[in-house]
Amino acid sequence: MTLQDSLKMSDQYRVPAIEVRQLHKTFGSNSVLKGVDFHVDVGQVVCVIGPSGSGKSTLLRCINRLEEPTSGEILIEGVDVCHPDTDLDSVRSRIGIVFQHFNLFPHMKVLRNLTVAQQKVRHRSRDEAVAIARSNLAKVGLAGKEDAYPSQLSGGQQQRVAIARALSMDPDMMLFDEATSALDPELVGEVLAVMRTLASDGMTMMVVTHEMNFASQVGDKVVFMDSGVVVEVGPPVDVLGNPQHERTQAFLSKVL
Ligand code: ADP
Ligand code: MG
Repeated sequence: MTLQDSLKMSDQYRVPAIEVRQLHKTFGSNSVLKGVDFHVDVGQVVCVIGPSGSGKSTLLRCINRLEEPTSGEILIEGVDVCHPDTDLDSVRSRIGIVFQHFNLFPHMKVLRNLTVAQQKVRHRSRDEAVAIARSNLAKVGLAGKEDAYPSQLSGGQQQRVAIARALSMDPDMMLFDEATSALDPELVGEVLAVMRTLASDGMTMMVVTHEMNFASQVGDKVVFMDSGVVVEVGPPVDVLGNPQHERTQAFLSKVL
């Protein structure tokens, strides 16, 4: 058995990084999540696919309580994020999130975008924060862009800065909500390449995406959601290659 195999085996006995049980979320009379069960194991890449409006973003946002779940349970590394005694800031600090729109601070240079939360939230010294920022910028292929303002960068570069910013907080897991959907087609590849590298480095990832090639090549598991429920879940070869449910088949026939 290789070291990697034995690490993978020991992972199976750990609590999942993310576990969602019977999650319901309603907005007024609009029932958006209708009993979602879902988990991401440590080191896994789970891709969430499904039509627009099926509740993917709401699910992702509930995970760190950007949205308040209506009922159900969400455990992050075994800790119930909805329990009144839970230190929400500490749970949140373990989760890096990258959205469709990069949400960089427009008035700050790239380097400052990467250091501000490290200093304020992680209480790192400026020197330490800068060193970590530089190493993460290099990791996303943007060494040398420290002094640029976000507006001077392409969308793909801005999104890579957003990933580097999230990584600079040392998250245990990364959530991506359609991180490439707002990009011009020629810029999508560079962001997906960074995400592939992260995955092969062993990062735990939940990736809401319309990129079916990414899902099939990088995902350990694909979750198909429709109308607030998980319709089908399994390895990409099954869910994408041989879907069992009519709704999955109908969705895939439109996007593949
Ligand atoms: P997806 O990401 O799969 O496209 P969303 O989770 O964004 O789906 O949205 C699912 C449904 O929830 C949509 O009908 C949307 O209008 C509704 N919704 C999402 N956020 C809110 C909100 N803050 N208030 C009211 N309705 C919302
Ligand atoms: Mg969405």
